[in-house]
This record gives sequence, C-alpha cells and structure tokens, in this order.
Amino acid sequence: MTGTIKWFDDKKGFGFIKPDESSEDVFLHRSALHSDENRDMYSGDRITFLVQEREKGPAAQDVKLIKNEIKLPQFKTKTKQNKRESIKSDKKFVDLGLTSELLHAVRDEGYEEPTPIQAQAIPYILKGRDLLGCAQTGTGKTAAFALPTLQSIAKQKDKQHHIRILIVAPTRELAIQINNSFNNYGRYTGLRTTVIYGGVGQNPQVKQLRKGVDIVVATPGRLLDLMRQGYVKLGHVKVLILDEGDRMLDMGFIHDIRKIIKQTPKKGRQTLLFSATIPKGVKKLAKSILTNPVEINISPEKPTLDIIKQYVFLISKNKKQALLQELLADKKVSKALVFTRTKRKANRVVKRLQKRGVRAQPIHGNKSQNARQRALKKFRTGKIRVLVATDVASRGLDVEDISHVIQYDLPDVPETYLHRIGRTARAGAGGTALAFCEGSQRQKLKEIENVIQMRVNLIKDPWNAI
Ligand code: AMP
Repeated sequence: MTGTIKWFDDKKGFGFIKPDESSEDVFLHRSALHSDENRDMYSGDRITFLVQEREKGPAAQDVKLIKNEIKLPQFKTKTKQNKRESIKSDKKFVDLGLTSELLHAVRDEGYEEPTPIQAQAIPYILKGRDLLGCAQTGTGKTAAFALPTLQSIAKQKDKQHHIRILIVAPTRELAIQINNSFNNYGRYTGLRTTVIYGGVGQNPQVKQLRKGVDIVVATPGRLLDLMRQGYVKLGHVKVLILDEGDRMLDMGFIHDIRKIIKQTPKKGRQTLLFSATIPKGVKKLAKSILTNPVEINISPEKPTLDIIKQYVFLISKNKKQALLQELLADKKVSKALVFTRTKRKANRVVKRLQKRGVRAQPIHGNKSQNARQRALKKFRTGKIRVLVATDVASRGLDVEDISHVIQYDLPDVPETYLHRIGRTARAGAGGTALAFCEGSQRQKLKEIENVIQMRVNLIKDPWNAI
C-alpha cells in the first residue's frame, strides 16, 4: 500500500499514516520501519507499507520511504550569454557620461553593458533630476543610483566628510548590500561609506560616523536612534535615496521615513525613490518628496519574468515538507532559497532538512545579525545548499547563482511573489521558481497571476493525493 505520514512524534516513536486507498488511518510504530530507514518519519512523507489488523485497529509494517516519486518538469537552461542578452540595452557604459574612475570600477565588477534601468536612469540622475524608479531587485538598480550619485558628490571635495548621500533601505541585508555596492563602485573616488542598522551594538557604527563619512546607508530605526543621540547630522545631504519604497511602507516605516526626510535640506536636495511596485502609498510619498521627477518603469515581466521558469504545485499542507525534500533530491537544485511564512516554520523546515542530511540554514528576524550574515556567507560560498528565509530577512538578498526559489508558503501579499522569484535570475541569469499552493489558496494564486500578468504552470496533485 502507499500513503502519507499524517503525523509522527519522534520522541514517542509513533504516529499515523493516511493510506491513499482507505479512509481509516493506520497506526505506525517506529519498530515497523524497514531496516533501510535510518531516520524518523515526518508529516507528509510518502511511504509504502503493509497493514496488519490488530485489536485496536490497523497497524503498519515494513514501512519504506518512497524516493523520487515525482518527476519534475525538465527545465531547459539557456547559456549564460543568452541570459545576459535578454536584459541588454543598446547603450554602453561609456555613453552614459560617467567619469573614468567610475568606469574603471564598473570594469572591475565585470559589467560589460548597462542594464536597461542603468542606461535610462544614469543620464537623468547625473543631470540632478529627481527620479521615481519602478524596478525590482535584480535589474541592476543599485548601480543605477550609486554610480551617478557617487560621481556628483565626488566632484565637490569635502575634506570633513559630511554625509552627502543618504540611502534608506527597509532591511539590514539590503542596507549591507547597498553599502558594499557603494564601496565597490566608489573605490577610486576616495569617498567614505558606512552602513547603519539595528540588531548589533551601535559603537562601531558611531566610531565610523565620528571619523566622517560621505555616504550613509541605513535602515530607518537605527538611523533615527543615532540622529536623536546626535551622531548623525543630515544638514549636508545632497542626495536622498529611498530603496524598496513599497516594502518600507509595508513594514510600517512611513512615519520614520518622514521624520528622517524632515532633517535633510529641502532645497537643493536630489531625491530618488525606487520601488518594485507603485501602490497608492508609494505614489503619495513620491508626490510629497520628489520634485518634477523622471519616471522610469522597468516592468517586472521584462526582463526578469521571461527568463524564470515558474511552476506551482497544488499540494496539501501536510505534504509540503515531503515535496520539498523530493525537490531537493534533484541535483539540479544547486542553490535553493526557500520561503516560509513564519520564523518558526523556517526553523522547523531547516531542522527536518538537516535530519535528512541536507545542508540548510534558516535566516530570519529572530536571528542575530551575525548569525544571519554567517548563514548568508555559507549560502553564497556553497557551504550550505538551502537557505530557508522569511520575507523580511530575504529582502535585498543578493546571491548570484540561486538556481531555485521555492515558496513553501504562498505570500500574503501577491506582489511579494514577484520579489521572491526575483532572487533567482539575478542580473538576467535564468532560474526556476517553484511554489506550493494549498487547495484552499487557488484564489490567492489567481491574484498572483494578475500581478505577474501571466499564467503559471500548475502541477496538480504531484502525488495524486491531496
Ligand atoms: P540589483 O538589482 O542592484 O540588486 O543588482 C543585481 C545584480 O546585478 C548584482 O549582483 C549586480 O552586481 C549585478 N549587476 C548590476 N549591473 C550589472 C551590469 N551592468 N552587468 C552585469 N551585472 C550587473
């Protein structure tokens, strides 16, 4: 017989099986596991077993895990060259008006051609225009705002290193990443950059600020904190950049942001607002802080969506872990970012994966900043294969070669689906996005399809047993 583990208490050593062909649950004791199975069972595991009728009801015998039962669709992968071509613009970096020190840094990064948002935005930003950029992570938007703004302030030497560019981002990971980008792109400019975020001691950050920095990348909470303590003065800010505006509003940062903006000079300030989507709140914010902005819209379907293979599995809640394990058994899944709805679930999924020998780590808001950075580093360098994240922790996460994004839980907000799948296909590299949709979530899936304006491939009943 075949069936699914309904639950299994590994401490007590027993649980129940839901057989495919009977409505009566079957008792499972650890002693019934076939000698090949050197681990406990988990809810959702698919198994074969024999049934022995006992006084108290049916009990399982000779229980074996079913391995690789589902066949994943064969994903065609394009060559790296082709992938990059799909986001190429006609312009070259030298046509954009950038100085040699910035072009040099761009060459160091190995960028051959500007991405569309870079080609479109850089000339306007160099002219000092305000900008509303609708672009998701993965489009190259960081360089689009970093290169021209670095150039503008590098022209005006400031020996005292007052803060002249302020970038506000919703999460620590994103802030750290943006800071790294400014450091890299600005390496020949002599400008100093630092990053400010909460969850760690403030002293090293204060020390940097005291030395004088030209560029500050910050998350709102800690920035306000240090402003209140008098360590951050924004009176010399020339360029204010808000990244992932929609996310900042989602995370309830609007009041903090307004307080921060108030402390920057209104006159002569260049303001750039980037957001993956432009809901009402972002429009309102844009209207109140941008002056005659250029609007650039790198629509999400292009370039990213057309190079991501998307599949959605219709699956019941208690089989998700087993399906995830099956998917990860495929060697092609070389680096997977898995999304869960809650921190607890991220921990649980990781624990179960680790028990099966899968190198996995969680990353979420309950972890210390150092633990998060360590997990991220391991993921980047390939020491772990699977990173299980909540949305907040994953924002701005820039890991180059994520082969698969797996949404263990569908997001509450349909737009988040886009942010998540954008983690694969960085800078035009192709990728695969898989999502688990519970039977009751079909409406949610429809809303997602409305947002991405395309139908996803729905794989119904991966095991014919929802
Ligand atoms: P972003 O959308 O800013 O998070 O950038 C996504 C990724 O694209 C980062 O890993 C960048 O290093 C990379 N990238 C940015 N611009 C280019 C470019 N012109 N060519 C190739 N890769 C790029």
